[in-house]
Amino acid sequence: MPQNKIQFQPGMSLSELIERFGTEAQCEAALERARWPSGFVCPECGETAHSTFLADGRKYWQCAHCRAQVTVRCGTLFHASKLPLTKWFQAIYLVTQNKNNISALSLKRHLGVCYRTAWRVKHKLLAAMAERESRRLLQGVVLADDAYLGGVHAGKPGRGSQNKVPFVAAVELNDAGHPQHVRFDQLADLKGETLANWARTALHTSVHLVTDGLASFSAAGAVVAAYGAIVVGPRQSSDLGVFEWINTFIANLKTPIRGTYHHFDFEKYGRRYLAEAQYRVNRRFELHTLVDRLLGTCARTAPCPERWLRLGLVRAS
Ligand SMILES: [Zn+2]
Repeated sequence: MPQNKIQFQPGMSLSELIERFGTEAQCEAALERARWPSGFVCPECGETAHSTFLADGRKYWQCAHCRAQVTVRCGTLFHASKLPLTKWFQAIYLVTQNKNNISALSLKRHLGVCYRTAWRVKHKLLAAMAERESRRLLQGVVLADDAYLGGVHAGKPGRGSQNKVPFVAAVELNDAGHPQHVRFDQLADLKGETLANWARTALHTSVHLVTDGLASFSAAGAVVAAYGAIVVGPRQSSDLGVFEWINTFIANLKTPIRGTYHHFDFEKYGRRYLAEAQYRVNRRFELHTLVDRLLGTCARTAPCPERWLRLGLVRAS
């Protein structure tokens, strides 16, 4: 049997994690490299001339121009967090290297922290992924289909019931018909105007959009270069070969819900959950470098206060 290219790719081993990021000093140095790859840049005024000093065991950079004093965490996702960076790196490792999503409860056990801390860590990482993915524009030929989180496909009884939210899954295909990038976007509804707005933020204007014929998708088709609907009855798109990829991605996205996120409030946190799935699919061939990549994303993500996290919002970059 041929090996699955994605499943058998080498990831980062636990030994490598410990070897590279086992101490606080190693993690601080890695964050410093990720944040200031060409050396210190003052977050207040943009100057590079600086001095450094140690206070309370922490390294501070003092800008020679505006005298601002900052640590490497200031202004990043790790801002104001009391958690050692070693724990943060372990969380990044667990979130990126697990085949399936890891729940806040599992994170609590693995990191040896309280549930509330684990929840904050998990949601801050999801928020960073969401922000990174927010600016992705799909190009070329794009297949799109509507689906529901926390429920079954459109048209089944209970549509619009509690804890069930609609989303659009879109897959960009190359000339050989293989999937390149995806977007998973939670929407308030599946009305034409909503889908047109979705297309404006998710698709390049040159896109050739193909859907399974949900009538309101034509409004999305109107804002891109070309639109084709393969018209079949609702819930029959799974029978069509052309929708094979999109159905696979939707199924892969929904499977962990049953196992990992039993009590997930989709209405509130669905956007972050979808962004995590999107982030992982779009980097599915990069398992080994994913820890470093997510660290880079965290270094460039502004702080997320808990009050903001609890609102379930997603910030565009
Ligand atoms: Zn400055």
